[in-house]
Amino acid sequence: MLVVMQSNATDAEVRSVCEKIESLGLKAHPMPGAGRTAIGITGNQGALDLGVLESFPGVVECIPVTKPYKLVSLEVKPDPTIVRIPTPSGEVLVGGGNISLTAGPCAVESLDQCLAIAEQLKPTGVHLFRGGAYKPRTSPYSFQGLGLAGLKILEQVRKHYGYGIVTEAIDNESLDLVEEYADVIQIGARNMQNFSLLKRAGRAKRPVLLKRGMSATLDEFLMGAEYVMSEGNYQVMLCERGVRTFSDFSRNTLDLAVVPAVQKRSHLPILVDPSHGTGKRHKVLPLSRAAVAVGADGLLIEVHHQPEKALSDGMQSILPSEFAALSSEVQQIAQLLRRHVN
Ligand code: PEP
Ligand code: MN
Repeated sequence: MLVVMQSNATDAEVRSVCEKIESLGLKAHPMPGAGRTAIGITGNQGALDLGVLESFPGVVECIPVTKPYKLVSLEVKPDPTIVRIPTPSGEVLVGGGNISLTAGPCAVESLDQCLAIAEQLKPTGVHLFRGGAYKPRTSPYSFQGLGLAGLKILEQVRKHYGYGIVTEAIDNESLDLVEEYADVIQIGARNMQNFSLLKRAGRAKRPVLLKRGMSATLDEFLMGAEYVMSEGNYQVMLCERGVRTFSDFSRNTLDLAVVPAVQKRSHLPILVDPSHGTGKRHKVLPLSRAAVAVGADGLLIEVHHQPEKALSDGMQSILPSEFAALSSEVQQIAQLLRRHVN
């Protein structure tokens, strides 16, 4: 159910509708938009009869939301969400015509490694640095990440270079720490349907980057985001990172068609990760070009200064100099589409 407010409704009118909703044991999600505020209602088990709200001052109408996902949908919020990421060197905007680039290693391996990559990325002007301190690996014998020590390394990168930090949480315990140290909480493909983790991320005070599960349908992907939003965190970015298919020439099949499909259904920004999406270094540039051309709101790129020595995902990591070329190319493509790369 959705309560549509008049475009000139006051804050007090919005608040009073929210209070009424909450007094009925339901949850109210005010979603301010460009033209009007809508209030999404969740927490009901069956159909709702909230006709009473239509008599509240400032209310235009109450309408049922027809999609299984609600807060994520364009019905609730027709204009694009712009996620705002505060970083030491200024706010990074993602969505609504703002394209964000994020670069860095798959895993945080050492302070020297991260500082070297951060230093070499600096001239590219990228604002967001990625790197996993908690690595969900297929094999228990593979490098699992440095944990808290890795987060402290990322803190150094942030302090010395001013990057915003994007890093993954793999469970509730690591999410507490990631929330403390990072600027964006990444939820990885393997956890896209870890509902208790999604709910915990929904109570976090930081934006969430939700990666698509490797076999997730579009509805399942959007429902993952709905879990986060249902807890009150509306700063959610989606990220396509390739899905499993019969194709045998790449690690995953990067499903770029999901970008316009998401945009037809949701106001949330949709990013693309061509590194995991292909698994091969030489495919990262061409698919980055394509991702921006198809309308992606950002790119997540694995970059390593010594990819042959990387402890994870070296085969798909590009050099900082290659990232510089990529960044310049995608900026030109974005310009053609009247979009802006941060
Ligand atoms: C990553 O970004 O390093 C990662 C593990 O990605 P995914 O969850 O998409 O596999
Ligand atoms: Mn990786």
